[in-house]
Amino acid sequence: MPPKQKNELYKESARKKDVRTSNIEAAKAVADAVRTSLGPRGMDKMVASPNGEVIITNDGATILQKMTVTQPAAKMLVELSKSQDVVAGDGTTSVVVICGALLKKCQELLEKGVHPTIISDAFSKASAKACEVLESIAIPVNMEDREALIRAANTSLSSKVVSQYSSLLSPMAVDAVLKVMDPARPAMLDLRDIKVVSKVGGTIDDSEMVDGMVFDQKAAKSAGGPTRMEDAKIALIQFQISPPKTDIENNVIVSDYNQMDRVYKEERNYILSVVKKIKASGCNVLLIQKSILRDAVTDLALHYLAKAKIMVVRDIERDEIELISKTLGCLPIAHVDNMKPEKLGSAKLVEEVEVGKGRVVKITGIENKGRTATVLLRGSNKMVLEEADRSLHDALCVIRCLVNKRFLIAGGSSPEVQVSMQLAHWSKTLQGMESFCVRAFAEALEVVPYTLSENAGLNPINIVTELRRLHAAGEKYAGINVKKGTITNMLEENVVQPLLITTSAITLATECVRMILKIDDIVPTR
Ligand code: ADP
Ligand code: MG
Repeated sequence: MPPKQKNELYKESARKKDVRTSNIEAAKAVADAVRTSLGPRGMDKMVASPNGEVIITNDGATILQKMTVTQPAAKMLVELSKSQDVVAGDGTTSVVVICGALLKKCQELLEKGVHPTIISDAFSKASAKACEVLESIAIPVNMEDREALIRAANTSLSSKVVSQYSSLLSPMAVDAVLKVMDPARPAMLDLRDIKVVSKVGGTIDDSEMVDGMVFDQKAAKSAGGPTRMEDAKIALIQFQISPPKTDIENNVIVSDYNQMDRVYKEERNYILSVVKKIKASGCNVLLIQKSILRDAVTDLALHYLAKAKIMVVRDIERDEIELISKTLGCLPIAHVDNMKPEKLGSAKLVEEVEVGKGRVVKITGIENKGRTATVLLRGSNKMVLEEADRSLHDALCVIRCLVNKRFLIAGGSSPEVQVSMQLAHWSKTLQGMESFCVRAFAEALEVVPYTLSENAGLNPINIVTELRRLHAAGEKYAGINVKKGTITNMLEENVVQPLLITTSAITLATECVRMILKIDDIVPTR
């Protein structure tokens, strides 16, 4: 047999080809499912779960996460949008759409007989080059420039169900992030320092940023305890105010009234001693962590606490402890013997107030307030409220992106067209298969303007060709003005987005495609 020629076209065994094709087909199907929700004129999805829960959302990551996907390669796309959510927080639809377009190009290349490894390597190079191009057209942004940050948040919110409230939500997102950011250590920014409390009732317009802290729960007042406390001394406790339980399950047999009385007395004395210690520390507001071991607080304890004029907020979640102690400047107390005045936090006012249909506990005028922020979101129903929460999260992530990488680029698909054009140009300097693959990569990126205009009800072919022409003529910020249905300079329209979102979308999508390409078999396990 003659030795294989190096340039001989690649032929796969039928089975390997089948696996790869079916993987690509499945992944493309997932990408197609979210395609229509890209951009400000994109559609929203109603996600219905078997237990009757309904979610309305436009967020790619949320749609995919809720989708029942079983095909392994399709699952990779779900993971892809999840990782974009972690890295950038926005652009979760774009990343999947780009990945789908790249996969389609792969299919064409494979059919023409290009080896998967060659495609994979060329795509990797192309994605690195794409990031370079993006960096070259990026505009530096200053953290002091609040207007620019708000514009970026606006772009992110413009595609959401709650977009009409962006004039309220965007400044809120910007202010919240600036509040929790430590200017000396911006890299340590943690969005968990922003507490979002959602309350049904009213409209999103009634949402506000609270200077202080808000708890979703009411004050405990079954025993007639106070619901308002001025000059509060707040203790955050992790121990229970209830009779201790034995470790193992056992029974105490009570045979006469005397013994019964003794049991009650013991319990009363125990609780009384705990309450006395709490009172002695000067505490007048008690935040009690939820407990799974035993009742965090009993009715009897509430009674004594009410008598001691101590306001009680129950059911504080374990994962909120850190945020609360940071905000109030208090330390969590794990045992009643550690109730020391120096561990308490102080605030001017703790008060239960009515919000919408429910009640919340508000703490204002906190002394030594830590770097945290609280947003009280309002909405007329649960679905809107949940989507508002997700949208606000996206906006917060956009600002976080800008803190981490302080560059903006124009939106409305202008970066994708610019990159596509420059890559096509660059491919001419390359040779052979590589050039061919880079060119395919460049063409795949045009899926973004194509889809954006399709979703906006415009003629995609006209728009894409016109964009190509303008970019070739040096208009590097020309993009689709979805609202007016024309092509304009996106910077002048104030449609800007963080550089990080687009670079990470292209890099992650390419990585995912390369991974899918390299798989030639699925091995089921038991
Ligand atoms: P993702 O989940 O990927 O963020 P979106 O539905 O938010 O998806 O759409 C993002 C795309 O919409 C980006 O390409 C962005 O540039 C574009 N876009 C956002 N706002 C506008 C606008 N006002 N005009 C034109 N394009 C916009
Ligand atoms: Mg978005």
